[in-house]
Amino acid sequence: MLTFNRYLISIAAITAVILFSSFYFLHYEQQQIKSNLIIQHYKNVAIETGYQLKTQLHRLSDIPQLQSLINRTTAKETTIKAISIAQGSHILISSDPAINQVPAKVDSLSILSSTSTIDIESILKKYHLTYPVALYDQSTPVNLTIIITMDKKTVSRLLSGHLNHFLIYLGLPTTMLLIMLFLIFRKTVTTPLETLRQYAYYQSSTPKKMFLIELESIRASMVQSFSRLEAEKHALYISSREDHLSGLPNRNQLNERLNWLIEESHRNKKSFAFLFLDLDNFKRVNDTLGHDVGDELLIKMSSIMQKIIREYDIIARIGGDEFAIILSEYKNHIELNHIINRILDEISNPLLIQNNPITVSVSIGVAFYPKDGTDSKTLMKNADIAMYDAKHAGKNQIKYFTEDLNQQIIQSISIENDLRVAIKASQFELYYQPKTDTVTGEIIGAEALIRWNHPTKGLVPPDVFIPIAEQSGLIVPIGHWIMATAMQQQVKFVEEGLTLSVSINLSSVQFSHQNFIQDFTEALESSGALPKDIDVEVTESVLMEYSQANLELLTKIREFGCTISLDDFGTGYSSLAYLKNFPIDTLKIDKSFMDEYADHSGKIFIETIINMAHTLHIKVIAEGVETEHQLSYLQSVNCEHYQGYYCSKPVPAKDFIKVVKANNG
Ligand code: C2E
Ligand code: MG
Ligand code: MG
Repeated sequence: MLTFNRYLISIAAITAVILFSSFYFLHYEQQQIKSNLIIQHYKNVAIETGYQLKTQLHRLSDIPQLQSLINRTTAKETTIKAISIAQGSHILISSDPAINQVPAKVDSLSILSSTSTIDIESILKKYHLTYPVALYDQSTPVNLTIIITMDKKTVSRLLSGHLNHFLIYLGLPTTMLLIMLFLIFRKTVTTPLETLRQYAYYQSSTPKKMFLIELESIRASMVQSFSRLEAEKHALYISSREDHLSGLPNRNQLNERLNWLIEESHRNKKSFAFLFLDLDNFKRVNDTLGHDVGDELLIKMSSIMQKIIREYDIIARIGGDEFAIILSEYKNHIELNHIINRILDEISNPLLIQNNPITVSVSIGVAFYPKDGTDSKTLMKNADIAMYDAKHAGKNQIKYFTEDLNQQIIQSISIENDLRVAIKASQFELYYQPKTDTVTGEIIGAEALIRWNHPTKGLVPPDVFIPIAEQSGLIVPIGHWIMATAMQQQVKFVEEGLTLSVSINLSSVQFSHQNFIQDFTEALESSGALPKDIDVEVTESVLMEYSQANLELLTKIREFGCTISLDDFGTGYSSLAYLKNFPIDTLKIDKSFMDEYADHSGKIFIETIINMAHTLHIKVIAEGVETEHQLSYLQSVNCEHYQGYYCSKPVPAKDFIKVVKANNG
């Protein structure tokens, strides 16, 4: 591989070698022509001198008279240094008195032909040329030799003259041209190419316009591509750090800034509050009013929160309806609480979005650096735990993270893990509690209540594990097992001669699962139980959430022939509208009301519920009846049925059969 510069130099060198070889060849040829001309000239001079000798010399002894002739010829000819005439080895006359004997090395002019190749260099080395002349000294033949001594300097100058011309007129311009071409090439090609290479690597500065069109188009497309890449990189950077909907920092940027704040707070020994915010019932807005309204609501919420916080606080949107706020500058917890309460207040102001009046609230969990966590992950996790606590406590409130809360979470996680093996390991069992007629005392039904025989923790109450099963979704397989087992047990009760219905508790999570109705039908069919002997207990939450879909499901169950009980009535957001709109057969008054039956207000409540239910042709069961007094009170207010320890605690199926047989006789 060659660099462009070396490549150029190589080409220039080869061109120079070729050119100079041609020059040399031309020069050699020119030198030959000149040499031949010079030799020819010497020959002519020799012939002329010989002729003069022959015509003017009649006696050899008169030869000194020719001294002036040879002197004149020598003076005239610039290429001749001297002309001598010798007889044998004896010089007779010479135009140069220093030549007094025939030189040892000579070249003969007569054998030098003007057409043959002449080695002028070796002739110049000897620089004496001889030419024989034969004449008569009074009829005696005499052989003389004309010796021409060359003027070495003049001849050399004559010969090398054209070489200089070649060098000046051909060599120099060619060399100059090559150098110029090299420089032009460097300026217009090599250097721009190097600039483009550098630009491709570092993109440090945009290269200037280029002279050559091809290079300019490469440069222009490179500049265009790089600036597009740069813009895309910038957009990517922004989108990787910014939430596109609200324009708030996203989780990435929050992490970055949180880590930075942790470092700074560590150095300055300062603390700060990390708030985890989750909008309450946002899902319902999305589901009922559509995602457009949901999006607009999120944008509004973002700007409301942004207005409340100060510029040195940090706010980010970290999920669908989840936000994080970091408050670092507050004098004390009272001031902090004040700021958080302002957020709660401002958010709960009614809004009008696309003509829909919407009121939202927010649940806030707070964790402090460094008390509740010294790294971003722990802080976020603990604030999240506190936020969930706020949700559980009824939403629209602030909860601070505590170690107890953390322990609860840790326990929940361990329960969730154990629940996963509980079904396969047959650790669940159903207990049955009688439903009794208040007047006749006859047991008319049974409520199936789940029990978990945990291998190490012993009997875990459903109040502890059902909410965890609901959160993790494990309630679906567990609920399926409950339905199937309770329905099969109803058939076994019939086989034992007991005519009673079995109530099954359904969780709202299980109820909302897409396969619920299919699972229910399959369990019912495969058990062989009569639908009329199966009762389902749902809580008010089932009626509240997804009301339309749930109304359809309950209607289907009712169409099968099963009955429906509304459990724990009075504890949730009880509403008369539910009772009117949903197909409910029985209303179960929660135990908490039975505890207060003796109070005036408790009485009013129980009696109002019973009267209202009867007006709507709904039967009533009172839960948690423990005393005879309670029972006689219920009889006096016409409550049809009751459930409670007074009759029996929930017991395993085989014990339940005994209880019923003993009771019903
Ligand atoms: P629930 O459906 O309202 O069940 C009645 C609860 O009251 C039962 O508690 C029962 O043992 C208790 N109880 C009945 N009579 C008395 C009494 O006279 N005094 C007192 N102090 N308590 C009485 P349990 O079995 O601990 O269940 C608690 C809750 O767990 C249930 O409330 C129900 O919401 C849930 N649960 C129980 N089993 C299941 C089940 O199979 N599926 C689902 N989804 N939830 C269940
Ligand atoms: Mg129940
Ligand atoms: Mg109940």
